Amino acid sequence: MSEPAVPVQPLVIPREAHPISRRNVSPAALKVLYGLRDAGFHAYLVGGAVRDLLAGRQPKDFDVATDATPEQVREVFRNCRLIGRRFRLAHVVFGREIIEVATFRANDDDGSGDRATEDGGRLLRDNVYGTIEDDAVRRDFTVNALYYAIEDFSVRDYVGGHADVVARRLRLIGDPEKRYREDPVRMLRAVRLAAKLGFDIDPSAADPMPGLAPLIAGAAPARLFDESLKLFLAGHAEQSFLGLERHQLLAALLPETAEALRTNRSGSLRAMVLDGLRNTDARIADDRPVTPAFLYAVLLWPAYCRELARLQAQGLDPAVAQQRAADRVTLHQAHRIALPRRFSLPMQEIWMLQSRFTLRQKKRVFRLLAHPRFRAAFDFLELRARVAPELGADLMFWRDAQGPSPGAPAAHVDALPLSDHDDERPAEGGETSGPGRRRRRRPRRGGGGAPASD
Ligand code: ATP
Ligand code: MG
Repeated sequence: MSEPAVPVQPLVIPREAHPISRRNVSPAALKVLYGLRDAGFHAYLVGGAVRDLLAGRQPKDFDVATDATPEQVREVFRNCRLIGRRFRLAHVVFGREIIEVATFRANDDDGSGDRATEDGGRLLRDNVYGTIEDDAVRRDFTVNALYYAIEDFSVRDYVGGHADVVARRLRLIGDPEKRYREDPVRMLRAVRLAAKLGFDIDPSAADPMPGLAPLIAGAAPARLFDESLKLFLAGHAEQSFLGLERHQLLAALLPETAEALRTNRSGSLRAMVLDGLRNTDARIADDRPVTPAFLYAVLLWPAYCRELARLQAQGLDPAVAQQRAADRVTLHQAHRIALPRRFSLPMQEIWMLQSRFTLRQKKRVFRLLAHPRFRAAFDFLELRARVAPELGADLMFWRDAQGPSPGAPAAHVDALPLSDHDDERPAEGGETSGPGRRRRRRPRRGGGGAPASD
């Protein structure tokens, strides 16, 4: 951890010099702050909430830091449970809202679990609690180390974070390279916070990133999955992606996609990914649902297309090549990001269904329309079609096939240009949307050749 070369006397920004109002703090968090104060402890709002409030944004949750131990916190609140083994935290529960209360900490274990086994299972509770200054300097960015004190409504700043919020700038506390080596995920956090808040990453924090990016591969895959959702499913996916590219972190998170984008000369795969991420952001802005399955279908599509092209060049049957490409991409990516199967399976289905959008035989049309993943697959086709105009006819056909209202598309299907036989071709057409299109007629099989997932 960085040397405590911080002034013990904080910069105190009085109430009249900052915009944080109790009106913007959740009533539950205020109850916790006042409850601790009334019991004789110091209590502060801390971290992302203070940063967001100072930046004029409504925080999504409120964390509290205090000099009370977890056991003391539990004595103050009946609705309190203690969690964590190595570092105990108090959760004060108000219906669906949980206020996390952390005792000032001296070490820099971020609770990620990456180092959970370092102590061989021993409880290392000694020396984990510290002073408020210790607590400030173990945080990552200066803007994340500000404390809003309930006793006088001031903001306490031990590391220059207030000036950085005003300058809309992310700076690490301490030596950047050292802080990234301690925890490489901080590089992703920098990109994420910059994307979310529209802040700049100070050159001191940005410059080491390309060189240290490979260290991200050492982070726990489960933690990288969580971090990826914060990057891409929080309403600023496009900016996150651009930030990862700018700071050369994309390959650390999505190695095969990064490689596929690098070798895709037309840039259409990148355009498709960016379109997909913009679309995700728009859905979140409209309060429409988003799923990690669809997100990852977008993010890993370039990797899938590249692998599929490779397998097809070896002369593999298209259907076999598709499944194998999907399996390989999923498997390889799992080394980096632990995408749970409940998301990777539907992701693969979205990919597999793409080849069935070329089908026009009535029975198959109905079957595809009834597929539980049809809607997601169709939305995906729409994304692909934006950068691959040759998919326009398929898109129109399947848009019409759904009819004006969901439920009974039969009459509409009858009015469509159906055929008695089906040409099956791989999903991906032309340079613009992926590997080469190969039209070929397949012999009709008993089951109509449709995958077993029907
Ligand atoms: P968000 O608004 O996305 O929740 P946040 O800054 O609150 O952003 P959290 O992951 O909730 O992010 O972390 C809460 C606080 O804990 C941070 O503001 C920061 O002070 C500290 N923190 C989190 N992760 C780290 C880390 N890897 N290293 C050091 N400090 C961290
Ligand atoms: Mg937070």
